[in-house]
Amino acid sequence: MSPSYDVVVIGLGGMGGAAAHHLSARGARVLGLERFGPVHSRGSSHGGSRITRQSYFEDPAYVPLLLRAYELYEDLARATGREIALLCGGVMVGRPESRTVAGSLRSAERWDLPHEMLDAKEIRRRFPTLTPDDDEVALYESRAGLLRPENTVAAHLQLATRQGAALHFEEPVLRWEPYRDGVRVHTAENTYTADHLVICPGAWAPRLLADVGVPVTVERQVMYWFQPRGGTGRFVPERHPVYIWEDAAGVQVYGFPAIDGPEGGAKVAFFRKGRVTTPETIDRTVHDDEVTAMAEHMARCVPDLPGTFLKAATCMYSTTPDEHFVIARHPVHPESVTVACGFSGHGFKFVPVVGEILADLALTGSTAHPIGLFDPARLAAAPARDSSERGARP
Ligand SMILES: Cc1cc2nc3c(=O)[nH]c(=O)nc-3n(C[C@H](O)[C@H](O)[C@H](O)COP(=O)(O)OP(=O)(O)OC[C@H]3O[C@@H](n4cnc5c(N)ncnc54)[C@H](O)[C@@H]3O)c2cc1C
Repeated sequence: MSPSYDVVVIGLGGMGGAAAHHLSARGARVLGLERFGPVHSRGSSHGGSRITRQSYFEDPAYVPLLLRAYELYEDLARATGREIALLCGGVMVGRPESRTVAGSLRSAERWDLPHEMLDAKEIRRRFPTLTPDDDEVALYESRAGLLRPENTVAAHLQLATRQGAALHFEEPVLRWEPYRDGVRVHTAENTYTADHLVICPGAWAPRLLADVGVPVTVERQVMYWFQPRGGTGRFVPERHPVYIWEDAAGVQVYGFPAIDGPEGGAKVAFFRKGRVTTPETIDRTVHDDEVTAMAEHMARCVPDLPGTFLKAATCMYSTTPDEHFVIARHPVHPESVTVACGFSGHGFKFVPVVGEILADLALTGSTAHPIGLFDPARLAAAPARDSSERGARP
């Protein structure tokens, strides 16, 4: 007879790990199935740091979820003793009318979030590592900062295990099907049955969730670490904030303080300048021309950052046509399957609250959290995102 569970979770990365934790915390008998090992670097949840912020330029509808996520970062740190969030402050920089600045201000005002507007002179005075043009401004948010993605994933897996969840690694799901009132899930090792299935496949969504009707485009993204000129002293979190910086052409870069000691450098990356790829074919090599392009871009806004190139790593975005997430009961199998995908390069800061929402949806069919924006029906008729205009290497 197949082993039977209340809920099977496919994918134990950021979202699936959080789901396994919240489901098992509520007493569900959970099986988690993961293609790779625990806390791996072949999906979307690695690289040492992720930005978190509340004045959300993408849409004010995300703010209530962020307020809850911040509470959950603290719970997670307390329950596991791990460093989850480092709220060192952050600046959203650009021209006043840029999406980064105007959108952040809109969310801050809509939700009455603590923030300050800084002109170029004030940015340079407060953060001497940053050199904005005279017509650039910033929204400063003291509660912005960074998350430690590997610690976050490990913490969720640790709690899930402690609460009795069975987590199987190196056991990819080959296929699943509706079975009686629930589902049947097949791996090379076994066949499992469950009342409910939660699918959190990250960049494997085009394969695992083809029948959801959501066009998800997988993009290769590169993270770069540089040792700043003059060392990391001026780049520590007390002096150098996280930032997202939009230039006149609409190109956004984002970066972090030096958090890995004097030799670890500081990380920077382009937000959305990725090439379309797949998890099977992604080019994991970072090429010299990419490093040069990044260094040249940073020379204008954080001139001391591109001192010495240290290393780079690739990661994948799973992008929907409108860059909003998909979190819902499965449109074809609403009774027995819940899905979470298409986090479009900005999902990590929501990881704990997505876990809570997935537990709500899986166990009760609904959630009190506002997730209307993430309904897959909005994308049913949309064509896959055309990345050709952004497909060139930066
Ligand atoms: C370079 C980069 C920078 C980013 N920066 C930020 C940031 O600053 N702030 C922010 O909020 N977000 C950021 N993001 C986005 C964020 O990291 C992602 O939205 C988030 O990690 C996605 O989590 P996930 O659970 O969907 O995917 P993953 O963590 O990749 O998890 C999916 C899991 O499913 C597993 N899986 C797939 N298929 C199967 C199968 N058949 N059987 C079993 N397991 C399977 C995979 O192995 C994987 O472990 C960034 C992403 C990247 C790549």
